[in-house]
Amino acid sequence: LSAILIAGGRLIDPARDIDGAFDLLIADGRIVASKPAGMLAAPDGAATIDARGCWVVPGLVDAHVHLRDPGYPRKETIASGLRAAAAGGFTTVAAMANTSPVNDTPDVTRYMLEQARSVRAARLVPVSAVTKGLGGRELVDFAAMIEAGARLFSDDGLPIDDAALLAEALEQTGRLGYVVSLHEEDRVIAGEWTMHEGEVARQLGVRGMPAAAESGRVVRDIAVALRAGAPLHLAHLSTAASLEAVRCARRNGVAVTCEAAPHHLTLDEEAVLRLGPDAKMNPPLRGRQDVQALRAAIADGTIDMIATDHAPHDAESKQLGALAHCFADGCSRTLSAEEGQALGLASNGVVGLETAVGLAIRLVDEGLITPRRLVELMALNPARLLRAEAGTLAAGAAADVTVIDPGREWQVAPAKFLSRSRNTPFAGMHLKGRAMMTLVGGEIVYDGRVVNGAR
Ligand SMILES: [Zn+2]
Repeated sequence: LSAILIAGGRLIDPARDIDGAFDLLIADGRIVASKPAGMLAAPDGAATIDARGCWVVPGLVDAHVHLRDPGYPRKETIASGLRAAAAGGFTTVAAMANTSPVNDTPDVTRYMLEQARSVRAARLVPVSAVTKGLGGRELVDFAAMIEAGARLFSDDGLPIDDAALLAEALEQTGRLGYVVSLHEEDRVIAGEWTMHEGEVARQLGVRGMPAAAESGRVVRDIAVALRAGAPLHLAHLSTAASLEAVRCARRNGVAVTCEAAPHHLTLDEEAVLRLGPDAKMNPPLRGRQDVQALRAAIADGTIDMIATDHAPHDAESKQLGALAHCFADGCSRTLSAEEGQALGLASNGVVGLETAVGLAIRLVDEGLITPRRLVELMALNPARLLRAEAGTLAAGAAADVTVIDPGREWQVAPAKFLSRSRNTPFAGMHLKGRAMMTLVGGEIVYDGRVVNGAR
C-alpha cells in the first residue's frame, strides 16, 4: 500500500483533543502522523487528497446494524451491508445476531468474519446472541464466542425477560471484559402493538406501545446490573423516562452506556401518518416530548452514541402491497380492520447507514452539538464499547478515516442506496453533509462512487 496525504482538512480527533486545520499522513495501512496544515511533506510517490472545506475524522463506528446474513439475502447481505456502511462514512459496524441461523455458535461468527474479509468495504464486528436461538432460556458459551471474534453480546430484537438469567449473563460477560447490549421492552406492558401509544395510534385505530414498556424494563435492568456489579449498554432508547433512569443509574455508580437512533432524534409519531410502514420500527417513533428529551440528552452527554439500528426489509415484509395506497398522500382517516392488521404485520425497522451522517450534521447545524461531539457520538464512544481498534487518528492507529463535506447538499434517493433495501422514512429529504471518502486500513473503499472490487 502506498502513502496518502490528506491535506488541509479540519481534523477532528476528540481522543487527542484536536480540532483544527491539520494534514494527515497514512502509509502501510496505518496513521503515520498528523501536523498543522502545511507542516507535513508528502513522501515520494504519495497520493495527495485535497480535503479543504471537509472534516477529516476517525472512521465512523456503528454499534448496532442488522445485515441479515446469514439468512435473508433479499433484504441485505454482508457484502451489500458493508458497502452501504462505507458509502455512509462507516468503517466499522457491529452486526446483530438475529440472523438465520442465529449467531450463537462460533461457526456463524466465523462465517460472518470470512464474508466480511472478502468485501472491500467497512469492517464487521460480530455481535453474539446472549441466549441460544434468542430463546431467552440458555446462555451461549461467551468465552467460545469471544474466541471466534464476537465483541458485543445482544439478543436485540427481543428483550431478556428472565432477570436471573440476565444477571448471570452480565456477571459472566463482565468478568470476561465485555458488555451486553439490551433491547428494552416489557412485553406484558407492550402487548400487541403497531406503533407508539398516543394520539396518532388513536386516530388510525391501531394499538400502541406505551413508553413505560421501555422505561420500566430499563429501570429493572439497571437494578440487575447494579446487583451483578457489571456494565450494561442500552440499545436505541426512545423515551424521556428511560433517559431519566440512565441519569439516576449513573448517580448511583452503575456503568451504563446508551445509544439513540437518528430516526428517533428526527421524527415523532406523526411520521406514521405520512409514511405508514416506512415509519414503523421497534421501539416505535414516540411523541414530540420524547423526541425533545432525546435531543437534550444527545447535547448534555446522557446519550453516549448514535447508532443507526440499520434494519433492511423488502417491500413484501413491509406489507407495501396492502398499505402503499393508504399512505400515498398521508393518512387522515382510521384504517380499515384489514389495513390496520397489515400495518401491525409489517416488519419493524428502517435502513439507516446511508443517511446517518446527514441527519447527525443537522444536529450540528441546529446548534445542538458541536462537530467534536458528533465524532464522540459516532466514532470514539462506539469504538470503546466494541473494544475496536478505532475511534482515533493517533499515530500508529489503523488508517480508518472518513472525510465528510459538512456543506454538501443532497437529496435522499433510496434507488441509489448500496443497501439492498429501500425502507427509509427519509426518502426525498434534503440533507446537508455527507461522507465524500472512506478509508479502511489505508485503502479507499468509498470515494463518492460505488466500490465493487473484492479485497
Ligand atoms: Zn432492538
